[in-house]
Amino acid sequence: MPHEPQWNHDADSAKRGPHPRTAPSGRVPQWVLDQDARRAEAPVFGARATAPPKPSRRRKSRRGRGPRRAWNLWLVIALLVGLYYSPGVLERHIMPAITPLVPGSNVPPRGVEAAADPLGRPPEGTGSGSFRLQESPDPAQDFVAYDPCRPVHYVIRPDNSPPGGEALIHQAVAEISSASGLRFVYDGPTAEGPSKERETYQPERYGKRWAPVLLTWSDPEETPDLAGDVGGLGGSDYAHVPGHPIVYVAGQVVLDAPGLAPILGYPGGPELLRAVVIHELGHVLGLDHVDDPGQLMYGGSNDRAKLADGDRAGLALLGTGACVPQL
Ligand SMILES: [Zn+2]
Repeated sequence: MPHEPQWNHDADSAKRGPHPRTAPSGRVPQWVLDQDARRAEAPVFGARATAPPKPSRRRKSRRGRGPRRAWNLWLVIALLVGLYYSPGVLERHIMPAITPLVPGSNVPPRGVEAAADPLGRPPEGTGSGSFRLQESPDPAQDFVAYDPCRPVHYVIRPDNSPPGGEALIHQAVAEISSASGLRFVYDGPTAEGPSKERETYQPERYGKRWAPVLLTWSDPEETPDLAGDVGGLGGSDYAHVPGHPIVYVAGQVVLDAPGLAPILGYPGGPELLRAVVIHELGHVLGLDHVDDPGQLMYGGSNDRAKLADGDRAGLALLGTGACVPQL
């Protein structure tokens, strides 16, 4: 089903992108482009963009693929059967049961690694600083988060990594994990590159489960959205079984390696670069930018190296999302 990613920009953090469109498979990526000041000065010509680059509005279309057509046929059959009984039956029983069984469907078997209870809890008493959550695509659901009853897997593409880059990523993940209570599991290096069209289910590469969060050291040539002052991108895709809460199932952090590597030469450089990764992981978990320069999720320039109380309050909330074993 064609739908557009939701974007917003650091230079325009108060405005929202277009409201995301839902699809039967319910997956709409939510991305945030980062024109981070933590990024080093532009290494060539020093030209700083006055406006963020316009993200391309390519539609995520899967038309013309055989399996998708078969899946659509099954959807029609499920729809007819469901409507015969009642829409409630369709939403609560038929769709969740049938979708993972359809050959070529882009969803894994239900409930992979799903525990009965959350695997961790966020810390209490995280303060009262400001935070902002990514807009929920469903007005009836306050926010979208990862399922805390299963681990959040992540992989790293090591290509182009600055020295110590992998260790910085693991440290950033540990920070995000302890602030949210979500359990993260490192699945090792990957050869997969960044893509706005990334499939959230890649059984050939990652097995029959949701694809892990992908972290890559990229550059503007490979990822045109990193052009100009954009130091990183972060966001997640969500999935939805009708009748149950929407949850994030996979995400990406795309870092501008040539733009960010010079930070390592500054005093406290590794901590500042790690803060960029933490900031992007904040987007992955569901945080948006705030106007308070004292927070790591500030949308403009600051030199914070650590999470502040508002960031922590937001991440703690995002660690209390719904467990949805139906996905
Ligand atoms: Zn950001």
